[in-house]
Amino acid sequence: MLGKTHGAIGGMTGALLLPCLQLPRPQLNVPSWLNQIMGQATQTRVEDVCMIIIGIGLSTIGSLMPDLDEPNSTISREVAPIPLLSRRISMLAMAGCLWLSSIVGWLPFQLSLILSLWLGIAAIVKHRGITHSLLGTGLVFIAIRAMDPSLAIAFTVGYASHLLADMLTNHGVVLFWPFPVRVRIPTGLRTGSVLEPIIQLGATGITALMILSAAFGHNVLPIVQRWL
Ligand SMILES: [Zn+2]
Repeated sequence: MLGKTHGAIGGMTGALLLPCLQLPRPQLNVPSWLNQIMGQATQTRVEDVCMIIIGIGLSTIGSLMPDLDEPNSTISREVAPIPLLSRRISMLAMAGCLWLSSIVGWLPFQLSLILSLWLGIAAIVKHRGITHSLLGTGLVFIAIRAMDPSLAIAFTVGYASHLLADMLTNHGVVLFWPFPVRVRIPTGLRTGSVLEPIIQLGATGITALMILSAAFGHNVLPIVQRWL
């Protein structure tokens, strides 16, 4: 699937699942004028909206991460925008820079170390190999969980949505890597097909609906929680 489609599905997955995962609410000071406009429970609503938006951002980034192993993917172009010799070598150079940043303390140590390791791995492995497997998903979760459990959940939800979305395409994924069993759900969907813009639109619409429901009413979230 295209990066945009993965991002839209990842964002939607975060929007749907994160309210059910009891993530810690951000503590905010809501100004009194907003209380007057929105009435009771404004504090809760604003915190819900912030929580969902942060979760959507993290799950969207997580949903793009597996395709770092594809030199021409959306995320690879963002991470290594100027391929000097090749994008893979640029990614390895970026991984080295991040690793150095973690040593000299320019960036948070764990974050830059995790990013540099994952960039380095993604730059050298085959597309849709370990990065698209349960093992890779578990490693990402464990690595980020050491830094922040809430962040790890939001990120991994998006990451897992990428694998599920790729399973819907003809190529499928080697979900149980290193065992070479290709898992696919036969939908006939091809990367870049005319269905992708429709999926993007639908997923973005559901995401917007979840944000609006958190902002203007608490009717939708409890219903989704009951379904899950
Ligand atoms: Zn993929």
